[in-house]
Amino acid sequence: MSKKVSVIGSGFSSISAACYLAKEGYEVHVYEKNDQLGGRARQYVRDGFKFDMGPTWYWMPDVFERFFNDFGRTTSDYYELEKLGPAYRVYFGEDDYVDIDDSIEQIRETFEKIEKNSARSLDRFMERARKNYDIAIKDLVYRPGVSPFELITKDTVFELPQFVTTIHDVVKKGFKNERLRQILEFPVLFLGAKPSMTPAFYSFMNHADFGLGTWYPKGGMKSVIDGMVQMAQELGVNFHRNASIDEIQVDESHKVNGIRIDKEILPVDLLVSGADYQHTESLLPISNRGYSQKFWDKKVMAPSSLLFYVGFDKKLKNVLHHTLFFDVSFDEHAKAIYDDPSWPEEPLFYASFPSITDADVAPEGKEAAIFLIPLATDLEDNSELREKYFKIIIERMEKLTGQELFSSVIFKESYCVNDFKKDYNSFKGNAYGMANTLLQTAFLRPKLKSKKVKNLYFTGQLTVPGPGVPPSLISGKLVSDLLNDEN
Ligand SMILES: Cc1cc2nc3c(=O)[nH]c(=O)nc-3n(C[C@H](O)[C@H](O)[C@H](O)COP(=O)(O)OP(=O)(O)OC[C@H]3O[C@@H](n4cnc5c(N)ncnc54)[C@H](O)[C@@H]3O)c2cc1C
Repeated sequence: MSKKVSVIGSGFSSISAACYLAKEGYEVHVYEKNDQLGGRARQYVRDGFKFDMGPTWYWMPDVFERFFNDFGRTTSDYYELEKLGPAYRVYFGEDDYVDIDDSIEQIRETFEKIEKNSARSLDRFMERARKNYDIAIKDLVYRPGVSPFELITKDTVFELPQFVTTIHDVVKKGFKNERLRQILEFPVLFLGAKPSMTPAFYSFMNHADFGLGTWYPKGGMKSVIDGMVQMAQELGVNFHRNASIDEIQVDESHKVNGIRIDKEILPVDLLVSGADYQHTESLLPISNRGYSQKFWDKKVMAPSSLLFYVGFDKKLKNVLHHTLFFDVSFDEHAKAIYDDPSWPEEPLFYASFPSITDADVAPEGKEAAIFLIPLATDLEDNSELREKYFKIIIERMEKLTGQELFSSVIFKESYCVNDFKKDYNSFKGNAYGMANTLLQTAFLRPKLKSKKVKNLYFTGQLTVPGPGVPPSLISGKLVSDLLNDEN
């Protein structure tokens, strides 16, 4: 009889782990507290509009491809991908923006126009970024974060300086123009920390951006989740929705022997949790928790966010599918996230208009819009604050893009700190896990294997390799390899 693995949560990492474990012959059951599968990548549907509630940027297509290839499939068996060109637009002022094209030749030209000789600096920077990508994404991130020696390979031994300098320092040295600097620092924001706290080695994110491009899965990220769920079911995985795990029961030999859903106790052989690490540990008796509250309180969490899902009654002008509004001080907003947690005076924000690319996500002649303001975790969150910030960003966008917007809003739905906590049991309401700073990288992150409970494992954005959809897919593979080796 095959051994049974129970998996908590149905985010990218949990579904990934479930697929690998099913392939190894385990009987796999996934328990998701919400009605919809996908974790932070759920979809909000209203009046003919469809919104990705979480991730919208499909980067590192090679990682998704490698995932499906591991099961003898390809991404195109499950969803259709389109490369966006231009990839995105960055606003710096009224009618004042830079478009990032989908080829490095065009991006070089853009750089050269903004700063003389910067194309040559970009070549050097991107060569380094590509090499780092090869070292990191093709190899290092597939290591389980057990020992510091994993990081010492023939390729990394000469890269030590890149771990003690930051991406901010390298960009500042290579480029004088403030706009170019901001554009080059933008990709590491996905790792959840300030560029001045992020090792230069993480420039591999720039290769993901300029080198590999920005893609769109038709139907949005939900199509990727649907594809993964379909494949998981083909592999024999069982999904249980509306199944919140309320308690993890441990016997005297420090083994999980049951999980409780409401009043029902289900027996467990092996348990993997893709829910927020701190939350999962809170379901254990205190003596079986591997990390104390003090440990968690000291960690740099990736930001939370204020999001708006908005239906407009017209097509919008002067925006691209992905549009960044960097027309106010980046440093001031970063301070409000990391140094002095507070609502930013003048927020930077990001907007996505998927209906520019995909006619199926909004009724004809209308626009679906997702707005995101990154915020410090655990801030006060109420409807007045949300309303205030909606007004701020829409007024700014009206000015910057030269169009009237308020009167075209059919509806708006907001999502913020309190929702992250309620819907996902998110620690402090983080949106995308624990930041990848130097001291929170690889073997320094919370471990895939419980420190105290023998048959309990963790996956997802709070363990290795870190935040983001591609790392979550990898995290699922790492935990299943570890579990399989040990059982
Ligand atoms: C607004 C936003 C924008 C983002 N943008 C991008 C982007 O553009 N590109 C990108 O690559 N990444 C992006 N990310 C990050 C990316 O979405 C995440 O890193 C990834 O989805 C995390 O997956 P996960 O499996 O680790 O966790 P989750 O998706 O959080 O999955 C955990 C699951 O566990 C469930 N759960 C929790 N507690 C319990 C319980 N007690 N019982 C049962 N189930 C439970 C939760 O409901 C959830 O479904 C974004 C995230 C957010 C929130």
